[in-house]
Amino acid sequence: MSARTPTPVDVAIVGGGMVGASLALALAGTALRVVLIEAVPLDAASQPSFDDRTTALGNGSRRIFEALGVWRHMSAQAGPVREIRVSDAGRFGAARLSAAEQGLEALGFVVSNRHIGAALWQALAQRPQILVRNPARVLEVRLESEAARLAVRRASLGAESTAVAADTEQFVARVVVAADGAQSLVRAAAGIAAMVEDYRQVAVVVHVATDRAASGVAYERFTPAGPLAVLPLADGRYTVVWTLTPERAAQVLALESSAFIAELQRSFGWRIGRIRQAGACASYPLSLSRAESMPGQRAVLVGNAAQALHPVAGQGFNLGLRDAALLAEMLAAAPDPGAPAVLEDFERRRAADRRGMVGFTDGLVKLFASERPGVALLRSLGLTLFDLAPGAKDGLARLSWGFGGDTPRLMRGLPVT
Ligand SMILES: Cc1cc2nc3c(=O)[nH]c(=O)nc-3n(C[C@H](O)[C@H](O)[C@H](O)COP(=O)(O)OP(=O)(O)OC[C@H]3O[C@@H](n4cnc5c(N)ncnc54)[C@H](O)[C@@H]3O)c2cc1C
Repeated sequence: MSARTPTPVDVAIVGGGMVGASLALALAGTALRVVLIEAVPLDAASQPSFDDRTTALGNGSRRIFEALGVWRHMSAQAGPVREIRVSDAGRFGAARLSAAEQGLEALGFVVSNRHIGAALWQALAQRPQILVRNPARVLEVRLESEAARLAVRRASLGAESTAVAADTEQFVARVVVAADGAQSLVRAAAGIAAMVEDYRQVAVVVHVATDRAASGVAYERFTPAGPLAVLPLADGRYTVVWTLTPERAAQVLALESSAFIAELQRSFGWRIGRIRQAGACASYPLSLSRAESMPGQRAVLVGNAAQALHPVAGQGFNLGLRDAALLAEMLAAAPDPGAPAVLEDFERRRAADRRGMVGFTDGLVKLFASERPGVALLRSLGLTLFDLAPGAKDGLARLSWGFGGDTPRLMRGLPVT
């Protein structure tokens, strides 16, 4: 390890994925000295955050991205969701949520993670006051009462984009932000345990083209194996998030293209017309992970490092972005951004939204997974009642703004400071 003097910063963000990059951009207009450290190059096939998935952004997230000046670089590729249709395979009861009935342009927007990444990282490239280290991996974090110390291994890329040389660098920060995902190294360094519940489900993600171009309708179909979400893309295709048992996912992933399409069509039905083409599949084992105690000394957790959710309701990133938006304004306003009082106040102000969204998502997964006759009947009745109850629909449409707690300034269209 290099004996060089550590570089002093106010905020060290570990992880430049969806949430970490958004936080760095939110802090770019403040007086804080910030370093953003991301292990994997943005355009690498192995980038774990900006991969081939798509993200359904709620209206609250759109507002944050507008305030950060990046929405205009995403909007052309954003597929608006104007209606959501929910059904329970093999049972009566269905529900419909429409943007027009809620007085909204759209209930959300589906954008590919790669487009989100490109917009965020291009904006960061215009902000030289943010130190960026990429590709660079944080190897060690030591937390002290006055500072966090980080050892970072930088890789310099050779002509063939393979790492040919590595170099270590040290930072001393007043606060370290864990934006390093569900397996967070920073969380472990802070001695914070995570509660992990394996759902024993795998999400198979694939883009499909059908004989009817997508036109703003999203579908959520609950099946005994798990939920199947079909979301409209801006280019007329759909993205499918197909949740299956691990055994079934392995079988489906082994099918050649026409057999895969036939199986998907059989499971989903014909609501989107005939599936003509399916792209490459990616798969994600699903679990709920939640940090058990927060914050740590000079350390604070955001996004998946704090809570990683099942994608059933498309809320994980939206929740993490609200973490980032509120944290940015609180760090910018504090004389010492790593002071225990600041970090504790952040946890207090984020608690209701986090608890509500974790409970809602987990409850939905379990409610629709149950095949007990009483539960299945209640579920069908629940969907029917929901469809008839405008109050319930208003509540669901408002989820986009969070489950309570403080609304961050960026989400109100205001600058961070
Ligand atoms: C199938 C699927 C579909 C989803 N759909 C939606 C959706 O529609 N809407 C929604 O809101 N959410 C959705 N989510 C959830 C969403 O993807 C996550 O909430 C989001 O990716 C969390 O971002 P993050 O930046 O916190 O963590 P990650 O995406 O895990 O990023 C962490 C980053 O940290 C970096 N890193 C890790 N360790 C280190 C280290 N030691 N040093 C440096 N860098 C490091 C990694 O390289 C990575 O880039 C979905 C999730 C899945 C699995």
